Amino acid sequence: RELTLTGPDEFFGLLMPRDRGDFTTFDTAGSNIRAAVAEIDEYERPGLRWYTVRHFRQDAGEIDVDVVMHDDHPGPGATWVAAAQPGDTAGIWLSNAIWTRHNDERPLFVADPSAVPALRAVLEFTVDHHPDDLASYHLVIVTDGGNELEAGFAEQWADKVGSLIVLDATPEQATETVRAHFTKAAAAGHPSTQPSYVWASGEVGLSKMVRGLAVDEWGLDSALVNWIAYWIEGRPRP
Ligand SMILES: Cc1cc2nc3c(=O)[nH]c(=O)nc-3n(C[C@H](O)[C@H](O)[C@H](O)COP(=O)(O)OP(=O)(O)OC[C@H]3O[C@@H](n4cnc5c(N)ncnc54)[C@H](O)[C@@H]3O)c2cc1C
Repeated sequence: RELTLTGPDEFFGLLMPRDRGDFTTFDTAGSNIRAAVAEIDEYERPGLRWYTVRHFRQDAGEIDVDVVMHDDHPGPGATWVAAAQPGDTAGIWLSNAIWTRHNDERPLFVADPSAVPALRAVLEFTVDHHPDDLASYHLVIVTDGGNELEAGFAEQWADKVGSLIVLDATPEQATETVRAHFTKAAAAGHPSTQPSYVWASGEVGLSKMVRGLAVDEWGLDSALVNWIAYWIEGRPRP
């Protein structure tokens, strides 16, 4: 209830007790949470993964979180979330938001399913606070099949934003699929490839590739690009 969000895509560290035990607080030794967790005895060390505050109901002291369930090699995050029951306890390490509103013309957002909760929070914030901005937003989302994006997402937003493209690709193909999309879009002079600001989040290769395009090919100042590695293909992202 005392939480003040710094922005709509605010994320936090979820500290998950081992073996579905109870969460107990520990000395965070300043502010480096990873180091503080590493200090804890291995058999009691909680898992730490990062998630976005999807909704915050301050009066009730509740937050919602949307989590991508990835079955192939679930790490501590997907495993804990899949088994969680009402009454289970976990720790929350508060962090900050990433998206910044610029008064410029044409922001571009690129997201895979892990970053869609953050993107949706930014869209809803914009509707509430700066509704006139929405028509200049360009969105590119890459998902693996139909059920990673909730039904009705494209229908809900397509008419409200400047453009919305949903590309279908496996995580392994996502970076190349998005790159190929932008190559075509740039050749056609699509405004999404002349952005005034870029927010790219998702798998590390994807978000890094978009950052490279924006800075090296579209000539955007790197200070106007927020790219965040939400997860890493083939290995954990602690
Ligand atoms: C700022 C920030 C905000 C985030 N917000 C969200 C959010 O709101 N919702 C959300 O679901 N995730 C979010 N993430 C991503 C989430 O923290 C990572 O996906 C995390 O790696 C999941 O932990 P895990 O224990 O399940 O898997 P890990 O232990 O990290 O990885 C185990 C295996 O699973 C694979 N893997 C991990 N994540 C995915 C995925 N999304 N899809 C396919 N395979 C995957 C890895 O490549 C690895 O092979 C966010 C990350 C950051 C940095």
